[in-house]
Amino acid sequence: MLDAEFFRRWMTAAAASVDREADRLTALDSPIGDADHGSNLRRGFAAVAAALEKEAPGTPGAVLALAGRQLISTVGGASGPLYGTLLRRTGKALGDGAEVSTEQLAEALRTGVDAVRTLGGAAPGDKTMIDALVPAVDALGESFAAARAAAEEGAAATTPLRARKGRASYLGERSIGHRDPGATSAALLVAALEEAAGE
Ligand code: ADP
Ligand code: MG
Ligand code: MG
Repeated sequence: MLDAEFFRRWMTAAAASVDREADRLTALDSPIGDADHGSNLRRGFAAVAAALEKEAPGTPGAVLALAGRQLISTVGGASGPLYGTLLRRTGKALGDGAEVSTEQLAEALRTGVDAVRTLGGAAPGDKTMIDALVPAVDALGESFAAARAAAEEGAAATTPLRARKGRASYLGERSIGHRDPGATSAALLVAALEEAAGE
């Protein structure tokens, strides 16, 4: 079973990973965006880590709700409300139990990803974070490691795609040949989940 401490480890690992990879995420956001994805998420996840330390929420659902609120209030870019919605809706779907199963987490994350799809209007193949999140959720029933691998594969597979949502879509054909920054950061979040699980 997964408790609040597990979810805190997930968010802390995500914050550390985003911090390490911020320059790379911003570099990916340079040719097909406005070169701020790494700094956006670094600021957002630093706020998440600080808030979790200060408030120490006691349930999995409360950890993700707090993290989601922090992302929405501190990240100016498109990714803030999208990741914030992912975490808030996943947290809400987890309910207020002290522990959840891996199956419950997989189901709740599916609800969260669906909320991101509704909010942003992106479908798989549109060259967004959805291209890493959907395969990850599909593979999560198997293992955290399988979810990480599926997210990385999904992120890498965005390179030849033409962007249909977000800033990169303004470039039309010229978005082809560049890896999507949001799909890349989504794969980092899924990798942090595996890290939290200690696999
Ligand atoms: P901004 O584009 O506002 O500067 P960021 O650079 O932080 O925001 O995030 C860009 C990433 O957000 C993109 O690489 C893409 O993965 C994701 N994104 C943008 N718009 C959407 C959308 N409508 N649905 C899903 N993901 C999106
Ligand atoms: Mg940007
Ligand atoms: Mg921006």
